[in-house]
Amino acid sequence: MFDIVTAPTRAKLADGRDLLFFALPGHDPAPVADRRPLPERDPDQSELRFDRSTGQWVIVAARRQDRTYKPPTDQCPLCPGPTGLTSEVPAPDYDVVVFENRFPSLAGAGRPAVVPDGDGFVSAPGHGRTEVICFSSDHTGSFAELRPAHARLVVEAWRHRTADLMGVPGVEQVFCFENRGEEIGVTLAHPHGQIYGYPYLTPRTAAMLGQAREHRIHYGDNLFAMLLAREIDDGSRIVARNELFTAFVPFAARWPVEVHIYPNRFVRNLIELDDDELDAFARLYLDVLGRFDRMYSGPLPYISALHQFADTEAQAEGYFHVELMSIRRGATKLKYLAASESAMDAFISDVTPESVAQRLAALA
Ligand SMILES: [Zn+2]
Repeated sequence: MFDIVTAPTRAKLADGRDLLFFALPGHDPAPVADRRPLPERDPDQSELRFDRSTGQWVIVAARRQDRTYKPPTDQCPLCPGPTGLTSEVPAPDYDVVVFENRFPSLAGAGRPAVVPDGDGFVSAPGHGRTEVICFSSDHTGSFAELRPAHARLVVEAWRHRTADLMGVPGVEQVFCFENRGEEIGVTLAHPHGQIYGYPYLTPRTAAMLGQAREHRIHYGDNLFAMLLAREIDDGSRIVARNELFTAFVPFAARWPVEVHIYPNRFVRNLIELDDDELDAFARLYLDVLGRFDRMYSGPLPYISALHQFADTEAQAEGYFHVELMSIRRGATKLKYLAASESAMDAFISDVTPESVAQRLAALA
């Protein structure tokens, strides 16, 4: 089992944002004062607008347009800044660090966004939280290259933030994710992810929970547990397994590369996993990312999405899992979301899920 220090070291950035250091055993974070002259934070940086035609909220965060875009390596805001003048992380070094996004699309505590009766336009404050998580101080590294103990520390940071943000008034859903690769639109090369606390259930999560409620009514069991059991039983799309977690390409995969990772036991979120399961999760996650990077000559661009659910009646059927997806459909080809996907949400896949699973399974 990995030795884990669970309590982070807390600090503040010059404009009052929270900064949390998660350290490997024996490492002592030594933050210095953030001496940058940062402008005061704008409490009204975004707004939610409700689209009555789809029943979905849209976040309008128009003030983020001047955020940092592909800076040169020596001006990376995520590399450690020992002088307190150059970086979002004022410290000589770090293992894993989390801080509030300087250009947030959601900020501040409030109430969950609700749609009042009536038929007019509806908007709401863009309350919630957006955080950045740096996986390592090594600018040129990647998640896949982390040592297992370090990956486990990232999992611990995700877990800590999930517990914290689920307690923020108004936050309905906590979403930890990574966008990796310029092809996905990443503007900072430094290995990092983000954590959102939304003031509403996102459309895809709401749809999945709706399916799961229907399934419960008709069949009396959990939809996701049934899907996992069927995938294991079928076996043709299994990519990798350990005693406590299973990774597979789903039966109806939408993306050229898509892998879902499930714990073998039903839990709603990272907080409910025990130590052995957290270790097993870190190992299988690294295993899958390693396979991704062996598919082509260069690293695979991907999106990693942690689907976590709160212990509430509305989210009771939610089964914690990770969905990984890539738009790379060949060594030199990317899949773009064009008319059918973007306009109609009707996905067309150019590959069979079984062939992708076979390829990934062989890349151990
Ligand atoms: Zn960097």
